[in-house]
Amino acid sequence: MTTLAVWKFASCDGCQLSLLDCEDELLILADRVRIAHFLEASREVLPGPYDVSLVEGSITTPADAARIEEIRAASGILVTLGACATAGGIQALRNNADVAEFASVVYARPDYLDVLATSTPIAAHVDVDYELHGCPIDKGQLLETLAALLAGRKPDLPAHSVCFD
Ligand code: SF4
Repeated sequence: MTTLAVWKFASCDGCQLSLLDCEDELLILADRVRIAHFLEASREVLPGPYDVSLVEGSITTPADAARIEEIRAASGILVTLGACATAGGIQALRNNADVAEFASVVYARPDYLDVLATSTPIAAHVDVDYELHGCPIDKGQLLETLAALLAGRKPDLPAHSVCFD
């Protein structure tokens, strides 16, 4: 039985919804996959280690940066999902701006925030085994990745996102 964990960082949840949208296909895999951590779908949380971790979202806080290290250490294979996790996402617009100025406009008490000056992809912090690009990710690529990892083979994925083709 393969244990699967799904993790969220700074993101809109759209890539996790793509995974939930695969419910018919995932039911076929139900006897081979145990979902150990997927808060979007279930409050049940099983302790690691995890065979496969899917990670959505970018790193935007010191707590995020520490948490992704723990997830990497607890994961056999780590796959990042979508533009947020692979490139920093729309929230990376702040990388070329003054995040303190942004926060002062949006929040009544920005001094309560503990954020990094940048939004960075997961691969800037830990080793990543596979990246799924897109916003949101392509459902077919996600299913191919899960099927391949369950079969113990390398997923057949495009070398680049369509932006590079
Ligand atoms: Fe949402 Fe797009 Fe980020 Fe996925 S990549 S979490 S769809 S903003």
